[in-house]
Amino acid sequence: MRWTQTLIPTMKETPEGAEIPSHVLMLRAGLIHQVMAGAYTYLPLGRRALNKAEQIVREEMDRTGAVEILMSALTPISLWEQTGRVEAFGDVLIQFAVRRQNRKVQMALGPTHEEVVTDLVAKFISSYRQMPITLYQIQTKFRNEERPRFGVLRTSEFLMKDAYSFDVSVESLGKSYKKMYAAYCRIFARCGLKYLAVEAESGPIGGDASHEFMIVAENGEDSIIHCKDCGYAANLEKAEIGARSGSLSRGLPQEIEQVATPGATTIEQVSRFLKCKPEEMIKTLVYVADAGPIAVLVRGDHEANENKIRRAAKAQKLALADPATIQRVTGAPVGFAGPVGLREKIPVYADRDVEFMINAVTGANQADTHLKGVNPGRDFQIDCAADLRNARSGDPCPRCSSRVALRHAIEVGHVFKLGTKYSEALNARFLDAQEQLRPIIMGCYGIGVNRIIAGLIETSNDAQGIIWPVALAPYEVVVAPINVADAPSREAAERIYDALAAAGIDVLLDDRDVRAGVKFKDADLVGFPLRVVIGDRGLKQGQIEIKWRWEEKPQMIPLEGAVAAIADLIRQERASGARFAPQKKSV
Ligand code: ATP
Ligand code: MG
Repeated sequence: MRWTQTLIPTMKETPEGAEIPSHVLMLRAGLIHQVMAGAYTYLPLGRRALNKAEQIVREEMDRTGAVEILMSALTPISLWEQTGRVEAFGDVLIQFAVRRQNRKVQMALGPTHEEVVTDLVAKFISSYRQMPITLYQIQTKFRNEERPRFGVLRTSEFLMKDAYSFDVSVESLGKSYKKMYAAYCRIFARCGLKYLAVEAESGPIGGDASHEFMIVAENGEDSIIHCKDCGYAANLEKAEIGARSGSLSRGLPQEIEQVATPGATTIEQVSRFLKCKPEEMIKTLVYVADAGPIAVLVRGDHEANENKIRRAAKAQKLALADPATIQRVTGAPVGFAGPVGLREKIPVYADRDVEFMINAVTGANQADTHLKGVNPGRDFQIDCAADLRNARSGDPCPRCSSRVALRHAIEVGHVFKLGTKYSEALNARFLDAQEQLRPIIMGCYGIGVNRIIAGLIETSNDAQGIIWPVALAPYEVVVAPINVADAPSREAAERIYDALAAAGIDVLLDDRDVRAGVKFKDADLVGFPLRVVIGDRGLKQGQIEIKWRWEEKPQMIPLEGAVAAIADLIRQERASGARFAPQKKSV
């Protein structure tokens, strides 16, 4: 391709509204154009990069034996009603009615395809002999995201690879899951991404049943906990915390004292008012679980973790109590709850760190009043002590004796053991070897293809622009004659360009009649892995210049044999990614 014959609208300025590097650079390098909030057109360079990511994903899916299909984005609403996901998705599900003759048809744009694929399998798979099978597609998904942002990282319309495995047993599902997990590792490694597979909240199958593939990035919307020493990694919802010790200074227990705290309802307000630190306070949260209200205690500087609370309370449903319930249970308005003297006898769940507290400050179950000198065991009983809070940097690792760190990350992929939720709802059953009818056991596996591109750019750039690995680059090589008005330079560039293209290299010829400085700036901004510069001075010595995007210095190579040498370099780099690899920031 020639620069003058394609569409590469590069920009000097940072576009308005773009906050993070990947968004800024995708706009500036002319990869994407915003159509409206959460929807983008992929311009030629963006489309090419996306194609490459898609192709890597496809090759690795095929390699596992998964079979590609293409399901419709338009889906009948009845499918979502059968699984209860109309409510579960709420406003995220894009649904509408269309008129057909004199009736109305209600439909939804698929945000994911468990329903559609399970319905398909219910029709065509009925025997254990037809399994295991994994079906996948690479297709546009629609989600009315509340806050589309960060360019293509979170959009209302995005390209997903979604795969679904169908097995006869939990053991067999385990094998299907492992294959997908391994394929994900290969995909992200081939894309040149530094990723972490983190444990995520599991569903009914339990155990080690869900992993998210994360790219560690400052601007990532997800929080993960990572131990550099043993490699333990989990998302914040799931991350466990190792054994706690009472690190706070342990003084002698004091008498309980009631203190007035007019209008101070939050941890910050009370800590300012009473001049105590949040870690000296007990936060008392009232939740409503299956069997009724429960009190949950966490240290004032800690965040409660609803998944952990749900598990400890063995509850299906869990929600913060409303103000009326809080008033009834504690006898006080919101903001003054505490474990001492609750009006109703409700179970008290405490996070492990609370057990170590001495002379804590907490609500007095009375308006505008707190208590000082509160001691667990002496002043109130804990019915259940468990890990109930979010992990944070510096917490003990749950797997080794080291300490974990909190990192921000972008979720690029997710693998999940589903179980029988969808096969039961949509009647996808099979006859086993004993002629027994049983629900098919499913797994689901998603990759955000757009996020591969944005995630790579987010973590691989410098002040000049994007730094692409060969695997994803829109073009592997840019050939830039310094001065197209100089006939020998122009002709040499054309020859090299033609020969590289003929050798199967993705090459772009920068045939624009602009200053060399402009060409170099744009080449760095777009981030082509290899830049080939042809100038009259070099040519006179039979030399041309090549430079890897991530290296400081260019090198001169003989014009004679240049094409074969360049093609070799690119082929080696395609196969190993080894020259790019050291550029990747370490996780
Ligand atoms: P998130 O938590 O970021 O909203 P999710 O967990 O809802 O994502 P999944 O249902 O697991 O997403 O979808 C599979 C993959 O699709 C995700 O791992 C992510 O890479 C991608 N993805 C999900 N939502 C979006 C979106 N709005 N824009 C772009 N990619 C997305
Ligand atoms: Mg997910």
